[in-house]
Amino acid sequence: MKANTSTKQLEAGWNFDNSYVRLPESLYARLNPAPVREPRLVVFNRLLAESLGLRPEALAGDEGAAIFAGNLIPAGAEPIAQAYAGHQFGSFTILGDGRAILLGEQITHGGERFDIQLKGSGRTPFSRRGDGRAALGPMLREYIISEAMHALGIPTTRSLAVVTTGEQVFRETPLQGAILTRVAASHIRVGTFEFLAAKGDLEGIRTLAEYTIRRHYPDLCDAEDRYLALLYRVMERQAALVTKWLEVGFIHGVMNTDNTSLCGETIDYGPCAFMDAYDPATVFSSIDQGGRYAYGNQSQIVQWNLTRFAETLLPILHEEQDQAVRLAQEAISTFPEIFLRYRLSGIRAKLGLFNEESADLELTKELLTCMQQNRADFTNTFRELTAETAADTALFRDAGFLDWQRRWQERLARQPQTAAESRTLMRAHNPAVIPRNHRVEEALEAAVERSDFTVMAKLLEVLSRPYAERAEDYDYRSPPEPSAQCYQTFCGT
Ligand code: AMP
Ligand code: MG
Repeated sequence: MKANTSTKQLEAGWNFDNSYVRLPESLYARLNPAPVREPRLVVFNRLLAESLGLRPEALAGDEGAAIFAGNLIPAGAEPIAQAYAGHQFGSFTILGDGRAILLGEQITHGGERFDIQLKGSGRTPFSRRGDGRAALGPMLREYIISEAMHALGIPTTRSLAVVTTGEQVFRETPLQGAILTRVAASHIRVGTFEFLAAKGDLEGIRTLAEYTIRRHYPDLCDAEDRYLALLYRVMERQAALVTKWLEVGFIHGVMNTDNTSLCGETIDYGPCAFMDAYDPATVFSSIDQGGRYAYGNQSQIVQWNLTRFAETLLPILHEEQDQAVRLAQEAISTFPEIFLRYRLSGIRAKLGLFNEESADLELTKELLTCMQQNRADFTNTFRELTAETAADTALFRDAGFLDWQRRWQERLARQPQTAAESRTLMRAHNPAVIPRNHRVEEALEAAVERSDFTVMAKLLEVLSRPYAERAEDYDYRSPPEPSAQCYQTFCGT
């Protein structure tokens, strides 16, 4: 591993401190990424690099390409594949990083710790029948959507770079291989705890819980009931996260427990997408036949996932198991309330409401029903509510909607803030642009079919200021043509 590091790399600003490799060995396998033939850096996130304490100039060329391809190991990295398990569509499986390698944890100038992970970096002991590789399209897609989520103010893993490998990957057809460099507050998942629980490794669970608390919830370190407190904190973060998804019409698509991060970031952009017309039954993923992870199911699913997490903690919540079960059940039973608290605060902001009235949830539901009946575009409708003149859409001519609008105006009048203040609040919570599926596809097609990365660069630029009202972004706000509305995403990533 040391042989191919060079002193020159110090200039890039790598500053690793790898705490995960100090955890019990059952939690990972040490191995280097499998080198690729011809690395080429096709997208690089300079601003993110800088915020990590890295020097973009040192990484934007061949050396960066070699590092982000896994061909060159930066000084201080200790590459591993992480072990985990997970409930996938409800069924338990032992998993692990089958095509990802964690290079290490970069410590920023401000002392923050971030996992630097290569996704698509070759086979690992956890690859099962997979090839360990990734195709260019899905890696660019993760880059676009994760960066859009970040700009929307939603906790998420970030994307630092994409390299093409100069090798083909075989899915249904041969595709260009690529590797994404993913940056995360950590990759500890509900499934990491499930992995230890499945092995009956009680000490491992305690060690991982202590580690998670130190890394993400350090103020709990000395708390007496800190494992129970950890459960409540994770519940809070997940409620905060999933309500933010609902606020922007985001559908994760594979809310398996291995894709539920303990730090509360959105992780694993597979078959995710944003909905256009409002319909809570919306599903984009071709593998989600039963609609388990439909837009409107996400609040129940996250509770289901948190219940799996609580189960893994039972042995350390209390010496008496029936007491532990009682504590866990009590905690989980409070989740709907926690979720509702976040939900209400989110929707009040979307509707320009500063104070609270008991009928606010009902008022929102009535709007959503009108939107569903009129197949109104989710994003644009909320944005149109902030305009001073009525939008020219079927919804804004609908009698039911006009009645709703009158009651909403009356509701707004019952708070001390001015209409202008409400509009400002709404514009900060109702994005003008989201990564519309047809726009994302257009950018991917240009990049993958014609090696033209300018379409994607322009899209990324627009998505980096989603709440701005800019005339030149107007084209990015249109919903797809009816012919393009049956969008499906595929998990064969
Ligand atoms: P995901 O759907 O991306 O969350 O992946 C689920 C599991 O399958 C993870 O353990 C991945 O590492 C693994 N996996 C996905 N694609 C591949 C692949 N091409 N080769 C090996 N493992 C993979
Ligand atoms: Mg995953």
